[in-house]
Amino acid sequence: MTGLIHFFRHLFDTTGYVRRGECGGWTADLSWLQNVSDLLIWAAYIAIPLVLLFYARHQKKLPFRHLFWLFGLFIAACGTTHFMSYITTLYPAYRLEGVIKLITAIASWGTVVAIAAITPRALNMRMPEELEQEIREKGEIQRELALLNDSLVTRTKQLENANRELEGFNNMVAHDLRSPLRTIVTASQIALEDAPSDLDPETKYRLGRLCASAQRMASLVEDLLEFSRLGREEIHPTPVDLTALSLAVARDIQEEYALASFQIEPGMTVEGDPRLLRVALYNLMQNASKYARDGLQPVIEVGRIETSNGPAIRVADNGIGFDMAYIDRIFQPFERLHNDDIPGTGIGLANVQRVIERHGGRLWALSRLGVGSEFFFTLQATDRSPANT
Ligand code: ADP
Repeated sequence: MTGLIHFFRHLFDTTGYVRRGECGGWTADLSWLQNVSDLLIWAAYIAIPLVLLFYARHQKKLPFRHLFWLFGLFIAACGTTHFMSYITTLYPAYRLEGVIKLITAIASWGTVVAIAAITPRALNMRMPEELEQEIREKGEIQRELALLNDSLVTRTKQLENANRELEGFNNMVAHDLRSPLRTIVTASQIALEDAPSDLDPETKYRLGRLCASAQRMASLVEDLLEFSRLGREEIHPTPVDLTALSLAVARDIQEEYALASFQIEPGMTVEGDPRLLRVALYNLMQNASKYARDGLQPVIEVGRIETSNGPAIRVADNGIGFDMAYIDRIFQPFERLHNDDIPGTGIGLANVQRVIERHGGRLWALSRLGVGSEFFFTLQATDRSPANT
């Protein structure tokens, strides 16, 4: 310790040392060559950190900025060792030179460690050419996406137009069929009622069939109009008391299916369009009463269940059920799985599907033949314009 203190106290002490140029066989020429070279190296080693400093100050997005400073310090320290070599030719301050060399060694190793530490990250850095290539590729992808988007917008508009035209056609046909059908239904009914009692049974039977077919066609037209209306109508979502709505629907259905018994969960509320939700519930609950098993009282449950996608409404019955192999068909308009003994037009579930889709929800079903069926639906985002259906 005392040795170290003594050393630093005599840092500039030159006693006992000779100037570098006076050692051994140094000639004036050699001294001159050494001095000029050392001074030139020193000047360059000072200029390099200055340039680095200037660059670092002006380049705001410089990666590894601290390394720049360290590198500048290391080069400046190297330069100073050369300057000290020059000084020692005039003034033999070898202790000071040694200390400066030690500082240079520390700065050099610090730089080595810092470079080694950043090397893995630096290896992962992309070169400017790679970045340019990437930017070019991204630009191309964006152009392609813009083109795709344009064609998608055009296709969507075409589809919307086609959909509107189809709906318009549907509507027009249904409307135009309505009044002549009403005439046929009324006329055939009158003809049947006023038929003379001695009318032969064959003609009476044919008249009855004509009347039933005309009535069936009238129901089809009404359902078609309803289907088209559900696709076009604006929806007005509000909080809906689904329990009260189900009870009201149950009362209506019991007028036709007096034996049907309903078990409706209390306290069910949802966000939706009450008129459209009534259509959905009516169709589901009517089907549940209609597709009953012979001799078994229809028991219909309406309640809430939890699914992985949130709460859903469940309408279940103990009826005849259907074959799950045809599950996709039942939601298509005019598809029926059961025979014509059970009245229907095959559009009820398509209407339910439309209502649920308009509410941004999902409709699905489970069934077992001879055991019963369960229909489920969720309601989510409620703002759906007719064009989106
Ligand atoms: P519709 O009842 O007028 O025939 P829907 O579209 O309501 O038309 O139903 C389509 C078909 O799905 C029905 O014809 C029937 O075969 C089947 N279905 C619907 N609901 C039930 C149910 N609760 N139980 C058994 N089958 C059903």
